[in-house]
Amino acid sequence: MGAIVSLLLIIAIIGSIIYKYEVANRDGANDNDAVTGQVPTNVDEQEPPIDESVSNIEQPTVTPNEDEEIKEGNTVPTDVPKANANGNGTEGSKDKTNAPKENENVSIENGYIVGQQPAKEPKYVDNILIANKKYPLPATFNEGESATARAALDEMIAAAGQQGYTLIAFSGYRSYEYQTDLYNRYVNRDGKDAADRYSARPGYSEHQTGLTFDIGEKGKEALWLTSEFGETPAGKWLATNSHKYGFILRYPEGKEDVTGYMYESWHFRYLEGDTATKVYNAGVTLEEYLGIE
Ligand SMILES: [Zn+2]
Repeated sequence: MGAIVSLLLIIAIIGSIIYKYEVANRDGANDNDAVTGQVPTNVDEQEPPIDESVSNIEQPTVTPNEDEEIKEGNTVPTDVPKANANGNGTEGSKDKTNAPKENENVSIENGYIVGQQPAKEPKYVDNILIANKKYPLPATFNEGESATARAALDEMIAAAGQQGYTLIAFSGYRSYEYQTDLYNRYVNRDGKDAADRYSARPGYSEHQTGLTFDIGEKGKEALWLTSEFGETPAGKWLATNSHKYGFILRYPEGKEDVTGYMYESWHFRYLEGDTATKVYNAGVTLEEYLGIE
């Protein structure tokens, strides 16, 4: 009997050590993701910073704004998106989108359902993982970057290269912990209302799925996280060809009421099989394609 108890104790201790080791590794990786970008003043985006851990491609060196704290060893700019000139994506439009129709008493704060409990399970519709303002991911959903999505990304980047476009995925998988840290830093700096306009709350970022990449063009870093990227030949190529590699432009122009986010020319979501092509051909958002909010 004593021997069994001792054995169980040893197993528990080893488990604890492994867990701490994994957490430490994860936190360590996130240290590279410090925010050093310019302060958003009038953006209306969920997009955060450039996540250098995600890209194995050479990073540009950009001098951050003087008023930004710089973490040691961090030279990557972490611009939040610049405001869309036409002012799309107002809070009002988001509220309409996200308020559940069946319950008029639900209150909405900056597009989020007030008092919504953390998700216990990830939401799948037709085997497609959902992460939006209506369906957050559990804090424990931490599968990392999808190898399938990364392989598809590499294939797409190679194809773009054939056309003369050097694409870079400057942000990809973000853990719940990283998003928490990021969001809290923005809240501390700019206040919650402002932060909610450009940074997703923890659990609500599609980057936590490991299936999403923010993509830009090398040499045109100034256009990263801007709608102007979508006007460039590379941005247009991505918008029209990404579906062939399994990606959709997740937040198209004029769909703020559906997706909860304004146009993001840089944010691409991987979908298994030929689903991306089906969504693309249908000319709809993922929410519309699946018939969800
Ligand atoms: Zn993104």
